[in-house]
Amino acid sequence: MKWGRSTVDTVCPLDCPDACSLEVTVENGKVLRIDGSQTHDATNGYICGKVRRFGERVYGDARIPHPLIREGGRNGELRKASWDDALGLIASRMESIRDEWSAEAILPFSYGGSNGLLTQDTTDARLFRQFGTSRLARTVCAMPTSTASQALYGKMPGVTYADYRYARLIIVWGANPSSSGIHLVPHIKAAQEAGAALVVIDPRRTNLAKQADIHLALKPGTDVVVALALHRFLFEQDRADEEFLSAHASGAERLRERAAEWTIDRAADVAGLDPELLEHVAEMYADISPAVIRCGWGLERNRNGGNAVLSVLALPTVAGKFGVRGGGYSMSNSGAWTHTPEDWIGVAEPDTRLVNMNHLGRALLDYRDPPVQMLFVYNCNPAVTMPNQNRVLEGLAREDLFTVVFDQVMTDTAALADVVLPATTFLESYDIVPSYGLSTMQLAKPAIDAVGEARPNVEVFAELGARLGLDANHDHATDVEALLEVTGAMPDEVASTLMDAGIVTASTGGAPIQFVDVTPGTPDGKVQLFPEALDHQTPAGLYRYQEDPTTDDYPLSLISAATDKTINSTLGELRRGPATLHMHPADAERRGLSTGDTVRMFNALGEVHCPLTLNPDMRRSTVGLPKGLWRMSTLNGSTANALVSDELTDIGGGAVFNDARVEVARVVTVALDSENVAEWTADSDEPVH
Ligand code: SF4
Repeated sequence: MKWGRSTVDTVCPLDCPDACSLEVTVENGKVLRIDGSQTHDATNGYICGKVRRFGERVYGDARIPHPLIREGGRNGELRKASWDDALGLIASRMESIRDEWSAEAILPFSYGGSNGLLTQDTTDARLFRQFGTSRLARTVCAMPTSTASQALYGKMPGVTYADYRYARLIIVWGANPSSSGIHLVPHIKAAQEAGAALVVIDPRRTNLAKQADIHLALKPGTDVVVALALHRFLFEQDRADEEFLSAHASGAERLRERAAEWTIDRAADVAGLDPELLEHVAEMYADISPAVIRCGWGLERNRNGGNAVLSVLALPTVAGKFGVRGGGYSMSNSGAWTHTPEDWIGVAEPDTRLVNMNHLGRALLDYRDPPVQMLFVYNCNPAVTMPNQNRVLEGLAREDLFTVVFDQVMTDTAALADVVLPATTFLESYDIVPSYGLSTMQLAKPAIDAVGEARPNVEVFAELGARLGLDANHDHATDVEALLEVTGAMPDEVASTLMDAGIVTASTGGAPIQFVDVTPGTPDGKVQLFPEALDHQTPAGLYRYQEDPTTDDYPLSLISAATDKTINSTLGELRRGPATLHMHPADAERRGLSTGDTVRMFNALGEVHCPLTLNPDMRRSTVGLPKGLWRMSTLNGSTANALVSDELTDIGGGAVFNDARVEVARVVTVALDSENVAEWTADSDEPVH
């Protein structure tokens, strides 16, 4: 430990598009303050309140100080253990499970707790691939969007934040940059001040929606029909850019055929919009250039999610919005880099069982040949983040399941584990962090020594590999060695700039103009407006709408959107008090509900108990509970995901979080006796119509 005060330049690796550059002030070996720095000009010296508080995670009560092993069976206690004992136990269990069932009975489970290149898909991938475990399809987020955007454009970087100021029309669709990707907001405001029009398409009246010229508060799951109506308008009004289409795209006729049924009136009816307002947006998009669409991840989380993204991202091609600064679309900029983990993993992916992570409950309870006997969780908190939460919890409670959780804090999943391993935070080890919102990659440097006995992911998976006699992991056992290996697989000038300056910008430049500086990464370099292979894989076909799942019993749509308190479920341990369910006052009145009531939100899959807040910014017939809650944040230990089915999106096998349909009723708390309290519903389970 170093005495005195110093500052360390590093980067935020959490699952957020911005990858802010950070200045961490350290005093006597402890984190004193975390601020934004100027290293990355997009960060511009400020960061979100979430990461300003990150020190509370580093030193908080929930931090895991040392390895733990459960003694006394499923209901026994987690007791302090040595790393040697914990890793020895895991290794011997992996071997005995492989011998009895086959290595496919082991399921590694990870997702997005960090976007650092070292924390995932390095020594962990080598270990699990060499051992022959089941494979995980990481589908809980972004798979429908990445599948759709790849099919259309291949890898093509999007419009960067700073170029929004050149746009005369900005459409923010299914994104809330006030909560995630906050550094886009000032650029949108600057564009508005310069005269740009802003349209927000979102079921919620977000802060940005309040400042927009037009807010289309569509029903959840209907983005696809709204986008198809815009396509139909462009084609039918001769506003499609035929010259651009014939030079740079294929499949326009097929798209036109599929869009033909979606008149403005019909789409507005299905989406619950004013048809005149929708037509006005169509005219604006046809008339105004440069026009940019910020496509978020909110529109993918339903049965039509892949087709929604496909339809939205196809709009700039049909309308011919590329080729000018401030024109085109932004989605993910991960296409700015050519390297992939396959460049350094060095072990081929085996042809073992592939498990869609959205089916975790099914995998733990229903899968056979072999049944899942070990779940190895890292960078993830599936007890609260996966669909059909009650089935996931039932699976995690299995007596014969051996669960390992490797995490920084005692998550809800860690609390159910047989072995818990303490992980370093990004303030305690090296990493490399590419931004998926911008075209940069930065070096994360440790600001402090590891807290307690925490160790970096790369070290632990390397040691476990060595214990299992797997040769691929022998040559690098520390984060520094892994850092050198991963940068060694990058082009020389990328690696040297990253190591020298701490930040490197992709060769496409920080602000590429689409179709000038960057072009589609498809095989023929054209936009594939109707990717045939994807059409065959999509149950209802491309550019098709699947009906709303609302029923008479469950008439309310539940949205669980990101907030300014957590990044997915990271930092959920810092929430104080129960989360509240938000409902429009008119919906509450029909049910006789008021702000402050304790309510029961339910459907056939489960129920969530929490206080109610009346919120006129909610769309009618739509209720909202925050994404990323831990079990302690509701009154009955269930999160919104207890009400979400594990059906999959039309494209990409994603989660259908926003397809949850529910009813809400008041809960009255009555004292049964001096010691016990029970909850019951004042209203019957009959829905209010
Ligand atoms: S979570 Fe996002 S906004 Fe917050 S510090 Fe990290 S990258 Fe920046």
